[in-house]
Amino acid sequence: MTTISPIYVGNDALANLLRYCADLKLTRFTLVSDTNTHRALGAHVTGALRANGYDVTTIVLSGDEVIADERHLMTVLVNAPLEPSTFLAVGSGTLTDITRFISHRMGRSFISLPTAPSVDGFTSIGAPLVLNLVKHTIVSQAPIALFADLTTLREAPQRLSAAGYGDMIGKITSLADWHLGSVVWDEPFDEDIFRRSEAAIERCISQTETIGQRSQEGMRHLIEALICSGLCMLDFGESRPASGAEHHASHYWEMLLLQEGRPAALHGAKVG
Ligand SMILES: [Zn+2]
Repeated sequence: MTTISPIYVGNDALANLLRYCADLKLTRFTLVSDTNTHRALGAHVTGALRANGYDVTTIVLSGDEVIADERHLMTVLVNAPLEPSTFLAVGSGTLTDITRFISHRMGRSFISLPTAPSVDGFTSIGAPLVLNLVKHTIVSQAPIALFADLTTLREAPQRLSAAGYGDMIGKITSLADWHLGSVVWDEPFDEDIFRRSEAAIERCISQTETIGQRSQEGMRHLIEALICSGLCMLDFGESRPASGAEHHASHYWEMLLLQEGRPAALHGAKVG
């Protein structure tokens, strides 16, 4: 079983990251972000690491809409140093998936630094990539550690936390599909993981108001529920605990919008 340690959620994410890097004697980093997430967090992380004597290569993906497609995957691959380094994924779903895939294929580890509570993929193993305008989820790797800065999450645009809430609410049908699959088709099922996923959904529903207000408490509940959902997938070995028919519909709409050259909609907005 993959262990992600530590999973830190709080207001001292950067200090905890620095302590972690010192404890593990990490020296070189490849930080992947986009222009928004670099402004929100990536630049601070780069500055703090360099101020502490670490070597940091930054890869800031540009463009209004970064998607995990061939162009952006290749940009990271071409700009990543050949020397061993630890990747830092600074962003939400897409940036994490790009970093997850490239670091895995280069034989490197990565650390997740979420900038918005918008999706549950931070702690999972699959990388949903868009190849030739078709969505494929490729088995890659989970991060070795995760540091979520609550101040950064609170400052993220509301549509992103709303999408994270939608990704959680969508799991009501995911769990129903999973249960049905186990009863009708004898698909693998895990009662404990089912209950954990269910508890994470209920936690979000009970905190609808604080999440809507983007309070410190609300953002903690939401990111911890999303992290829990990712861990359920990780522990089960596939996405069944967190993805059902609503995710298939979402992936179909995503490909349709791409093929028609229309603006993308957030994953959680489609799922929820
Ligand atoms: Zn999802």
